Order: sequence, then C-alpha cells, then structure tokens
Amino acid sequence: MKLVDASGLVLPGFALRVICALESAGYEAWAVGGWVRDSLRGAEGHDVDVTTSAQWEQTKLVLESVGIEVHETGTAHGTVTAVVEGQPVEVTTYRTEGTYSDLRHPDEVHFVTDVREDLARRDFTINAMAYHPERGLLDPYGGREDLVAGVIRAVGEPERRFREDALRVLRAVRFACRLGFAVEPATQDALAGCAPELSEIASERIGQEMTGIVESGRVDWALLHETDVLAAAIPEVGAMRGFDQCSPYHAYDVLEHTAHVCRAVEEFQGGLATTELRWAAFLHDIAKPVTFTQDSTGRGHFFGHPKVGAQMAEDIMRRLALPTDLVKQVRILVRMHDHVVTPTPRSIRRTLRKFELACPGMAPRLTWELLDLKRADAVSKVPSAAYYAVELDEIAAVLRQELEKHPPLTVRDLAVNGGDVIRETGMAPGPAVGLMLDTLLTGVLNDELPNEREALLAQLRWADAQ
Ligand code: ATP
Ligand code: MG
Repeated sequence: MKLVDASGLVLPGFALRVICALESAGYEAWAVGGWVRDSLRGAEGHDVDVTTSAQWEQTKLVLESVGIEVHETGTAHGTVTAVVEGQPVEVTTYRTEGTYSDLRHPDEVHFVTDVREDLARRDFTINAMAYHPERGLLDPYGGREDLVAGVIRAVGEPERRFREDALRVLRAVRFACRLGFAVEPATQDALAGCAPELSEIASERIGQEMTGIVESGRVDWALLHETDVLAAAIPEVGAMRGFDQCSPYHAYDVLEHTAHVCRAVEEFQGGLATTELRWAAFLHDIAKPVTFTQDSTGRGHFFGHPKVGAQMAEDIMRRLALPTDLVKQVRILVRMHDHVVTPTPRSIRRTLRKFELACPGMAPRLTWELLDLKRADAVSKVPSAAYYAVELDEIAAVLRQELEKHPPLTVRDLAVNGGDVIRETGMAPGPAVGLMLDTLLTGVLNDELPNEREALLAQLRWADAQ
C-alpha cells in the first residue's frame, strides 16, 4: 500500500486548536490512533483523538479558558471530550494500564509523562502512532512500515497483550478485515491461542466488534482464516466448521459454503451489500448442524433449518445487543432463504407480503436482497445447482414488473377500508373487520380479485349474503 508522506498530513483546524491551546499552556499534545493510521492511508474523515501530558482537570481548564466546550466523558481513565466547531475531540492523558483481572477493564490506569509509554499500551503497531504538526510522526513500533506491508502486528509481546484484554483478539480480526490486511505470524499464533478468553468479554462489546467484521464485507475471510476467533465470539459458528453436508448438492462443508455465500453477496452488490444482507448471508445456515439427519442411503438433510436458523440468528444477534430492526430483517431473510419462489406474479406478491408483515415498509428492498441471497446460495453449492441462478433472473424480471404496478402489500393499500366492510356487511367494528380485510388482501395477492373498489364491494356483499 502506498502511503501519504507524514509531511503531507493535515490536521483539521478544530483538532489543531485543541493541540495548540494545550501546547501554549506548556503541555505536550499529539493526534493519535485511528486518525493517524487512516490519514497515512489517505483515508480522510476519521475523528481525531488527542493524547496529552496534561491531567484531565488541566485539559479542561486550558481548553475552557480559550472558549472551547469540554465534557467529562471518561475522567476515571483521563478522558474529556472537547467540542470545537461542532466536532468532538477526545483528549486523554498519557497513560499506561495496570493489570486486567477481568480481561477487559484495566484495574487501574497510571498516568505517565512520556508519550512513548502511552503508545506502548496501544494494541497494534498501526494504531500506536502519534502525529504533531511540527514534530511530525512518532512511530516507535514501525506502524508505518506495517501499514505499507498490510500487516496487523501486536505492540509488544502478542500473547501477553491478548491476555491483558481478550477483546484485542477480535479487534485484530476487525482491523484485518476492514483494511484487507494479513495478521503477522506471531500475532496470529497468539490470537488463536487466546481466542477462548473472549468468553469472558461482555457480549455487547463482542457485538460491536462483530458488527465491524460483518460490515467490512470480508467476513468470508474471517470465517476461513480466523475460524477460532469467530467461533469464540459466536459459539454457534464453531459447529459449522468441518460439518460435512453428506449431500450431492454440496461441494463444501457448512462453514466453507457460508464463506462462499458471504463473498458472493458482496460481489453481486459491488462490495456494498447492506448490513442485513451481510448478516443474513453469515447466519443463513447457522442451524444446519443442529437440524442434520441422515437417511438410509447416508444422504444428509437439514429439515426445518431456515425456521430454526431464523430463531438462532435472532438469539445470537440479541445476545450481541444488535439493533432490533436489524435483527428482524435478518430473521426474515434467514427464514425465507430456502422458500420456494417461482417467476409468477402470485408467488412474487406472496413473498412481498411475507416481508411486509415481518418488516413493514421494507418489502421491496428485502425481496431484492432475498434474490441475491438465493443467487449467492445457488452458486456456492455444486456447479449443477448454479443453474438456479437463471431462474432467479426470471424471478427478478417478474419482481420488477410487479413493483411497477405497486401491488397492495397491506390492507391499507386495498381499494376498500374498514368502514366499507362495516357498511356493506353490517359487521360490528372489531377484529373481525380486520380479518375480512385480510381475506380480501389474500384474494387480491392470489389474483382471485382485482384491487378495484367496485369488485371488492361486490365481494363484501357476496360474503355477507353467504
Ligand atoms: P476506529 O476507526 O475503529 O474507531 P480507532 O483506531 O479509532 O479505530 P478505537 O477503538 O476508537 O479505534 O480506539 C482508539 C485508539 O485507542 C486505537 O487506535 C488504539 O490505539 C487504542 N485502543 C483502543 N482499544 C484498545 C484496546 N482494547 N487495547 C489497546 N489499545 C486500544
Ligand atoms: Mg475510534
């Protein structure tokens, strides 16, 4: 990777103000961490974190004296957040960390006076660089070189660093995925060895890192190359490893197949698959190991795996404290991934309706995503199964036609409403009215009735007469 020359780095004005204010008051201050890493890569826009020799109380005093707003966001760890021109800048006192008896939170932090000691506590070489507009780049661990080579390398002795804080195991995989980097061999050995300690880490922290991994679009790489780590983060993933499907349709074990599907959805979507499609591809076959049976010929079956898998996906994602809407979307995509769809308006509309019921307002988007999930699934089995992708093109053509007609997906889209039902049938207001509208909607979706007011009113009168 070709990097920006350190002399070419330009600190945004709002961060410069913070650094200048601290230095004019006699303290030392540097930009550090993610901003330095991403700016060297030529990727702009990362928030700026500042590390300083000032204690947080001093930082607050100095910054407020020049009119900068300061919030006490983490003073136990020496952090305050300055807000300059609407931009937050986290300012943290140089510190090292003590022991980590819970493998996550340092029992105590020690404030220090040398920025190098602060860099030594950071996780990876590429995250352990500091930059100052006059003093330039401070890079005691060769982070720049590792950025050029595309390598994730622990600062210091890898195993000790991972044992101090097991979350670093997952962070390593997240940075490798996000940047497309390799993990340096000694760091990799320690990763695999320390992965089980992830079980000690709070699940929402694991959720944050897994989000980063899945949203990198490279979870396929992590599945194949960092299986131990993913299996430690999500134990259900471990059961997919080496799971022989005993099926003439499958050339791969469940984990390899899943990795292929993840890669395929990414390719179909030009590397920009949506978050729900990425998670659905990752978890679509999660229930295969638990639903596996073999018939008398030895052939494997996974009856009910979409249904069980939808529940498992929901359980996993809730455990990881992921957003409820996302969980619902992934749940229905996993539930539907093997659902039979045919290139007919009726089948397409019924599919749209299922998505509408699960995730109101999202039916068209999720149905398109289902087609890509199915397409990815089809091309990740044996070559003969890939033929289904041709049928999916026909299904896509019908979906396009149907969406242009704006089919009714909820009872609100019908040409009649609850008042019409009450008037035409004499029915009392209540749940039965809704059921009658549902029946009409089903009739319309099944092509048994047109969505036209007169026809639906006639149907209501007919129903009333029965
Ligand atoms: P991102 O773009 O993902 O936010 P980042 O580098 O800003 O990347 P953060 O998690 O925001 O990452 O942390 C800021 C910096 O703090 C990191 O660059 C790293 O130097 C240090 N750091 C964060 N978490 C840890 C940790 N668990 N162990 C050691 N150092 C850490
Ligand atoms: Mg950050």
